[in-house]
Amino acid sequence: MNMHDSEKMAGILLNEGYTLTDAPQDADIIVFNTCSIRQKAEQKFRSELGRTKSLKKEKPFLRIAVAGCIAQQQGRGIIKNNPQVDYVFGPQNLQKLGDMIRTDGSVVLTGDNPVGDSALREISDSDLPVLRKDAIRAWVSIMYGCNNFCSYCVVPYTRGREKSRPAGSIYEEIRKLASAGFKEVTLLGQNVNSYKSEIGFGGLLRQIDAIEGIERIRFVTSHPRDLSEDLIECIKELPKVCEHIHLPLQSGSSRILKGMNRGYTYEDYMRKADKLIKKIPGIAITTDIITGFPSETVDDHVSTMMALRAVEFDGIFAFKFSSRPGTKAAVMDEKVPDSVKSQRLAEILELQDEITLKKNKALEGTMQEVLIEGASKTDKGKITGRTRTNKIVNFSGNKVSPGQIADVSIVKAMRHSLVGIDSQREEDIIFKDKDFR
Ligand code: SF4
Repeated sequence: MNMHDSEKMAGILLNEGYTLTDAPQDADIIVFNTCSIRQKAEQKFRSELGRTKSLKKEKPFLRIAVAGCIAQQQGRGIIKNNPQVDYVFGPQNLQKLGDMIRTDGSVVLTGDNPVGDSALREISDSDLPVLRKDAIRAWVSIMYGCNNFCSYCVVPYTRGREKSRPAGSIYEEIRKLASAGFKEVTLLGQNVNSYKSEIGFGGLLRQIDAIEGIERIRFVTSHPRDLSEDLIECIKELPKVCEHIHLPLQSGSSRILKGMNRGYTYEDYMRKADKLIKKIPGIAITTDIITGFPSETVDDHVSTMMALRAVEFDGIFAFKFSSRPGTKAAVMDEKVPDSVKSQRLAEILELQDEITLKKNKALEGTMQEVLIEGASKTDKGKITGRTRTNKIVNFSGNKVSPGQIADVSIVKAMRHSLVGIDSQREEDIIFKDKDFR
């Protein structure tokens, strides 16, 4: 979500005549797109922001903007503590960046009713220029904000309540992406399963599935509570919807899930995961896990480990609980010591490594449809791409154009990637071998 916001801001600045640079000392404007989900990200931002003080002294015309969730939460306080900052705006106001940089003096926009220059226009998301980093795969926002108020999460406070984009506007954006040569779209929302429009999320997937040129459809994130039968049918039936779902579990303990205000029990989650596995053979399920949520006991931790074994996730994102100011969990008693959180996280990651390798090994000897992304960065001379289940494959073959689809025979599985041979190339090799005999 944040990365796509960065693409939008880069697109706006490009439209205003700026070009991108990796060197802060060469920049005329520096935009920090911040994330406040975890304390670590916030600390990193603060130290990077501190470095801009001397830059601004050397180049007084340099403009510094702070965007994203920290901006939304701390508003004017950021300028108060960091006078080198010119603009502060939350995720709901990023579309006004173009107007903002033409305004003299500082601007703070951190709400649905922004405080700032009244000349700033309202611009809808579909009008925004986007500088996409990839020419094959594109992110497309379908909704903003979240209504769930999980007790540990700042998103409902920083991104506001759920708002769905009209289906027609999403369809139009994806149709244009297809005409521009994009092959894969990932639909973005904090909880795509609660997407609301006259056609609902299933209807939206069906419409996009019919767009010529688009080969693959993905979506993140799905809330387990709202995962519907219709969505399972869509993954099963629609040819372009990939057999992969990111379904955050967070904990294997129903008691902890209640404390997190997740709205489902471990048993509810397992029923849905089971249905996905039975109805869609070969589906990849990935998840998020938080270790050391307040009051988490050894038994709760063991329940999470057991859940990992029971579902056999293809991959997980696991983090230590991070207390975020303003959330309910921040003021909960029975905080788990950091050393215990670290130990539990290490155990979870070690177990998952084992499971991921086992799942990947099961793919050795199979044929996988791979969407080519380009030359491999890690494996020189090889091509890289992803399976429909979102696994990275490095392979040797004849097809090298990004965006092409290759049938790749998997010859070796590792934890983070697969190694394969393009089946076309394999036939060539076999043919040559026969000739040789
Ligand atoms: S569903 Fe929960 S964790 Fe996800 S964004 Fe909403 S409040 Fe945060």
